[in-house]
Amino acid sequence: MSVEGVCQLCESRLAEHDCTRCGASVCRLHYDGEMRFCADCADKAKPDNRRGDTFRL
Ligand SMILES: [Zn+2]
Ligand SMILES: [Zn+2]
Repeated sequence: MSVEGVCQLCESRLAEHDCTRCGASVCRLHYDGEMRFCADCADKAKPDNRRGDTFRL
């Protein structure tokens, strides 16, 4: 229990959820309740990405 419940994306808010894809602990703002993914995974997983730019890692 070193780092207790801090969102791994913004590292400022309290993490309330766990991403079922990558396992990251994220806050409410960075959690997709429908997909149960963190914002990062949800963004990549969504098929209909409205964003025109496609950035790949
Ligand atoms: Zn966050
Ligand atoms: Zn994730």
